[in-house]
Amino acid sequence: EAKKGGRDRIRFYTREVNEKIREDIILESDLRKALEDKEFIIQIQPLVQVTTGRIIGGEALLRWNHKTKGRISPAEFISVAEDTGIIVPIGERVFKEVCDFTKTLMNQGILPVPVSVNLAVPQILHSGLLDSIHSVLKESDLEKPLLEVEITESVIMNNLDYAVTIMNNIRSMGVKVALDDFGTGYSSLSYLKNLPIDKLKIDKSFIDDIVASDSEQAIVKSVIDMAKSLGIETVAEGIEMKEQWEILRKYGCDVGQGYYMYRPMDLEDFREVLEKQMNG
Ligand code: C2E
Ligand code: MG
Ligand code: MG
Ligand code: MG
Repeated sequence: EAKKGGRDRIRFYTREVNEKIREDIILESDLRKALEDKEFIIQIQPLVQVTTGRIIGGEALLRWNHKTKGRISPAEFISVAEDTGIIVPIGERVFKEVCDFTKTLMNQGILPVPVSVNLAVPQILHSGLLDSIHSVLKESDLEKPLLEVEITESVIMNNLDYAVTIMNNIRSMGVKVALDDFGTGYSSLSYLKNLPIDKLKIDKSFIDDIVASDSEQAIVKSVIDMAKSLGIETVAEGIEMKEQWEILRKYGCDVGQGYYMYRPMDLEDFREVLEKQMNG
């Protein structure tokens, strides 16, 4: 009886796995079609200086404007886009959109801010990455690039030597590199000094518990102190409450990102808040 149950479980499991594979194959072809049909767009979430509340940058976040399903978040498609490599051409569009947006701002006389773009493993490993960053920079023709990149800790640690080389090359073009989702991987604090990074983004999971947990506060404080001593800027992700903001300010965190200040917004809205800030 137990054996039979086990076999049924396996059969059921296999069916589930097959179903998942089937769904992913459909998703893959949908993604290719969506790329052709230009259904990928970006939103930008403002990055705010903790001491003043001023917007000093933004993060470009990918959205899929599906014809029938509406707006789809990266959680639902990014892993398939990564596994299939489709993230490479999608990512090139993201670079281009950011660059076009910056140009539009300047043409309208609005002071632009640096906007960061996320890089996944296939993008890092793709031989065309440096060329495509270079051409985006050339096209926007600025003295100081207004483009930055974010790479997660686990992506770097899983491809260490190659990732470090790529990061050095990116930085040599004047593009700043942020270590994203810090604390979720397994690099140690002391390892930070070996990484060619300009910024460190403390993962939301630490910020979530910062108000209630003394130990979480201690961790965040030591991350900020350590980064500071290395000359690395700190960014706190996922600030949702005033209390979190105040603790981060007390600890000297440089930059904040989160729903408490701003949600990711359409480019038109981001343009508007920048314009308001400039005039206000
Ligand atoms: P991420 O790079 O860590 O981006 C931050 C995520 O946290 C975003 O989710 C943002 O909307 C969300 N967030 C920011 N503040 C808050 C907050 O206060 N509360 C909560 N609950 N969430 C907050 P999103 O847009 O769903 O993106 C998820 C992930 O997808 C990103 O994580 C990034 O890893 C990936 N991603 C997004 N756009 C791109 C892209 O253009 N290329 C690549 N390769 N990956 C991307
Ligand atoms: Mg990011
Ligand atoms: Mg992050
Ligand atoms: Mg994250």
